[in-house]
Amino acid sequence: MVPSEIRALFAVASRPEVVSLAGGMPYVSALPLDEFGGMVGDLIARNGAEALQYASAQGDPRLREQICDVMALEGIQACADDVIVTVGAQQALDLVTRIFVNPGDVILAEGPSYVGALGTFASYQADVVHVAMDEGGLVPEALEETLGRLRREGRTVKFLYTVPTFQNPAGVTLTADRRTRLLEIAAEHDILIIEDNPYGLLGFDGEPMRALRADESERVIYLGTFSKTIASGLRVGWALAPHAVRAKLVLAAESAVLCHSSFSQLAVREYLATQPWREQIKEFRLLYRERRDAMLDALETLMPEGCTWTRPAGGFFVWLTLPEGLDAKAMAPRAISERVAYVPGTGFYADGSGRRDMRISYCYPEPDRIREGVRRLAGVIESELRT
Ligand code: PMP
Repeated sequence: MVPSEIRALFAVASRPEVVSLAGGMPYVSALPLDEFGGMVGDLIARNGAEALQYASAQGDPRLREQICDVMALEGIQACADDVIVTVGAQQALDLVTRIFVNPGDVILAEGPSYVGALGTFASYQADVVHVAMDEGGLVPEALEETLGRLRREGRTVKFLYTVPTFQNPAGVTLTADRRTRLLEIAAEHDILIIEDNPYGLLGFDGEPMRALRADESERVIYLGTFSKTIASGLRVGWALAPHAVRAKLVLAAESAVLCHSSFSQLAVREYLATQPWREQIKEFRLLYRERRDAMLDALETLMPEGCTWTRPAGGFFVWLTLPEGLDAKAMAPRAISERVAYVPGTGFYADGSGRRDMRISYCYPEPDRIREGVRRLAGVIESELRT
């Protein structure tokens, strides 16, 4: 295990004079905090004996039903018994990897991929093989080609890990056609898919995308979380898995944590039952859309020629590629001294790729700070191009 690139950056990036485009922190201050506080106070006064007690490792039954209602927004029809509540989607990733992966097994993942998943996969000594991605998400032909090659080499592919919607870190979304094709390929090659979907309800235009799990229930394990739609500090996420897998996940969770926080689960249960959570998600969407617009406008106006970037339709992140010859990792300390932080692309690959790339996020800073951050970043890139 090695520290992630992001962790190493956090200490400097959190200095007040630095505009941090590095973190992926949701803007929880947008929640009605007084009401949230009142709700939690009432919960303890009325139901403290349950909220402060141990509970089952699978998670609160009423909350699991509510989770099914949330997933229905993405076309998923699920039964609460197939849901396990976890400590954020991160623990779901850990449990899934623990039950499936032996050292040396192959996990396929988009290139680039979510750094927290790569850390988990590394801790179980998996061999991550990246599959190419473009503006339309994972490239099906690249997946087929990779699966064919690995089969010829006699390697065991345990699963494909994918963040199909508003991907972290690239901000791209798998198109509807590719979703269909991906499920066909998974069936042809008999592989399991881990669909990690923290940002699915944070789209800026139109209705939520249909989840992969909506069209395939046996081969897809779906991971969800309330980190971005309610609050990340609650640490409540979940996995929806085929029945037999779910049973193993509960055993693995029991041995890891006995049970999850009853307090957090009941707070989420209460929030979903009594607060206008759909309207709150709408507010988050508007807030992040305004910030996305601020970032894309500033990039368009300020970035030197030769830089390219993605145009996310939801979520938190833009993926920026520097002109030929520049190195985002080597440039990071110079950016910090110019008071702007980003995450170098190499952290999002298991194989050292991504040297020209970086992730910049618009979720946390206010629009003016985003514009100022992009202005500083453009200045750093221009001075690199001159040297
Ligand atoms: N998956 C992805 C793609 C993420 O971006 C994150 C959070 N950054 C997680 C999983 C983990 O989220 P949490 O544990 O807060 O639910």
